[in-house]
This record gives sequence, C-alpha cells and structure tokens, in this order.
Amino acid sequence: MDRLVVSGAPAATSSRYPRVMHPLTSPPASIAPTGLDLSALAGPNLTPVLGRYFERSWSHGIGHRLFDTDGRSYLDFANGIAVSALGHSHPAVTKAIHEQVDRLIVPTGAMGYAEPVVRLAVELAATFPEPLDTVLFLNSGSEAIEGALKLARRTTGRAGIVAFKGGFHGRTLGATSVTSSAMNYRAGYEPLLPGVHLLPFPAVYRDFDGDEKRATAVCLAALHDLVRTTIPAEGIGSILIEPIQGEGGYYPAPAPFLRALRAFSSEHGIVLIADEIQTGYGRTGRMWAFEHAGIVPDVVCVAKAIANGLPLSAIISRRELQERWGRGAHGTTYGGNPVACAAGLAVLATIRSEHLVENAAARGAELVRGLEAIAAEDPRIGDIRGSGLMIGIEFVKDRHTKEPNGALVEALMAGCADAGLLVLSCGRDHNVIRLIPPIDVSPAEVGEALGILDRTLASLPG
Ligand code: PMP
Repeated sequence: MDRLVVSGAPAATSSRYPRVMHPLTSPPASIAPTGLDLSALAGPNLTPVLGRYFERSWSHGIGHRLFDTDGRSYLDFANGIAVSALGHSHPAVTKAIHEQVDRLIVPTGAMGYAEPVVRLAVELAATFPEPLDTVLFLNSGSEAIEGALKLARRTTGRAGIVAFKGGFHGRTLGATSVTSSAMNYRAGYEPLLPGVHLLPFPAVYRDFDGDEKRATAVCLAALHDLVRTTIPAEGIGSILIEPIQGEGGYYPAPAPFLRALRAFSSEHGIVLIADEIQTGYGRTGRMWAFEHAGIVPDVVCVAKAIANGLPLSAIISRRELQERWGRGAHGTTYGGNPVACAAGLAVLATIRSEHLVENAAARGAELVRGLEAIAAEDPRIGDIRGSGLMIGIEFVKDRHTKEPNGALVEALMAGCADAGLLVLSCGRDHNVIRLIPPIDVSPAEVGEALGILDRTLASLPG
C-alpha cells in the first residue's frame, strides 16, 4: 500500500524503504550467532515476575540495531524503554566505559570524590536552568523518586503528596504509592504510603475530547477542591508529575497546567517534583521536557538515558534544598558509580557535539508527518501525540467512541518485530504504540521505521 510520503526518506527503487545500514551495522567477527534459545535455557530458574514484551533471545547491539542469537538484526525504536538514547555500542560511550573500568570501578561516594562523578555533577547541573545546581546520584528511577519524596517530606515537614492518575514512577513501595498507570502495579501491596492524593491528569485526547482548555480547567479544579475539602495546601509537601506521562500512554501535560502547578506550589511552599526519567536528556526536543512549559521545578528526577544503559539516576534541586535536607538524611552504596558517570559524561558530550537535541526535534517532526500520512488512510489511529522523539500512537476501534484497540497494538508490535523493527506499547489499555528511537536517529532510519509500521499495519485486520 503506497500511502506514505516522508521527507528525508530515501528514494525508492524496488522497495520504498530499503533497509539502511548504520555505519556499525556489521557485527565484529568475534560476535558469531550462538543460535541459543535463551528462554528455554532460562527454564525454571529465571524469575517469572518480570513482564516481557517479547520472548526473543538477544545477543548484542550495534549502532541502532539489536541482534538476536540467530544473527538477525532489528532497528531498535524501543531502546530498553528509552534507555540507550545513543543506540548500542556508541564508540564514545564504549571508549569512556573501557577507560574508566581500567582506572576505577568501585563506588567511592562514602570515602570522598572520584573524578567522573564530580565532573558529571558539574556537567549535568549545567544542563538545568537556575537555580537547579545540585546533583545527588542514585541508581534507578524508582530510587530517585523515593529520594525526592523523602527530600520533600523532610524539608517541608508535611506528609501530603499529590500525584496524578495514570502516572508511573517506579516499583519501590513509595514509588508504587504514587503510581496508578495500571492496577497490577498497586494491587496486593496495600496499605501503601499514607498521605498520597491521586488527582486526574489532563489526558486531553482520551478524557477531554481533545479540549486542552477544559482538561486543564477540570484538573486544576480537582486540585483546588482537594485543598478545600480534604487536606489543606499547607499539609502538602510535594506535587509530583511527569511532564509527559510515559507508561500511562505518552500524554503530554498541557503547558498551562504545568504553569498552574508551578504557581500553586510556589504560593503554598510545596516542592514541585518533575519526573523526567523517561523524557530526560534531549528526547523531547528540549534538554528537559519541563522547558516546553517555561517552568522550573524545585526537584527533577532523572535516570534511564543519562548513562546510555548503565544504571545511574539523579535528583537535581537548588543547593539550599539539599542543605536543608541535611547531611546523611539520605544515602546510597552504589549511586554515582564512576563507570556509569564516565558513560554519562560521554553521553552529554555527544549530545552537545552532535546537536542531538535539535536532531530529536527535527526527526520527531518527520516521524509525526509520516504517521499523520498513515493515519489519513487508517481510521484505527485515533491520535498521534508527543514531543520530539517521544511519540505515542493511540489505536482505537472507532474514532468517535475511542474504544481502545489493544489487540491491534499487540499484533502490530509482534508484526513489526517480525519485520525487523522493535517498538513497544504503553497506556492503561495497552493501546498506544510508543516510538522512542535513539536521539541520534537518522532521516533514513525514520523512513525505514515508517515503512515497516505502514506495511505491517496495512497487513493487519481489525
Ligand atoms: N518514572 C518514570 C517516568 C519511568 O518511566 C520509570 C521507568 N519506566 C520510572 C520512574 C522507574 O524507573 P526504574 O525502573 O529505573 O526504577
């Protein structure tokens, strides 16, 4: 089906979107396909608790492609859920890791200072607007959220937490308490953290028929109602929000809503926490997603992409807040590992030298244009939204009723993988395909992914 026009896509001959090879696409001779079926090998020993999108066996990653154990390559628009922002085995990141491994691996945070940790704190702080200047390194996204909630509680002396329905903030008990993107994250863990108030999130397409003004007004009214009837504003220590809801369905919070939360927090001495764990590091076409709204949160939580796959997260705030939090008020054994921080330095340097924030904005616009061309001919696409290279495509059975079409999304994910493209789903009804390519993705790869999506979707009934 020829229904797609993508600027920047390669000219077609026999195939409209020929497979484009990344410069590093040929695996080194030393990585031979093992042919192993790793799911069979895992047998009864690897946990059944972890959810998996695929049951495939992965061997290695090169450039923007993952390779399975049979040696087949897949264009990776999943990236470990927005983790490998520079793709796999990026030469600058790999070199930095190798050099640091030879020098110092062990975390030295409790003993003093290590150069990559200090340097990354300086460089990371420089990516934030004033007054955000102080960095606490931790390990995972959940751990950053826990830390931020503790910071807010201790520095304000208030137990109240406001978070938003459909939000995802992690799986530790505190983070679970503010998560509501799916019941499976919460069920059976009650009682969760007391003092959490979950308010409606302005999911403009799904809940407000595309009316951003009404979405903003209704959700702000819920906040005002909360402090009129349930808990005084002076009892709330923190308001926690993803500037673009991730697991919940790739819903951007309208800028006026974020600005109103900023004003409300400032007026009442509340710590405004932005969860930038999935949006972070240039992905949305700005370094940080809160910049789109022109606000500065009090605390920002980051993780995932900041070390391109090595475990590293951070809490960033103004210095005075962490001084008031107090020495020893929080801590970590592994947080700020020198190797992870060396990787982080290489990621940041590459983002700057290759102008990748701008690339995310430009390639994202191309992706959206291509998706809109597909949607013009396929009514099963209800909405295309997002920012930069964090794009959600919501599938419905009917554009008027908006009945979610999760079965189609499941088939599309599987079909795309069979055709050599990895994409993931999200959303409370699993009916949203999320596109999170590496932020150094090329126009040709955007065209290739659009072609696979288009052909696969066209081949699927219902
Ligand atoms: N917040 C957001 C927005 C996330 O997307 C995630 C991970 N999907 C987390 C928090 C939790 O991060 P982690 O899995 O590293 O604990």
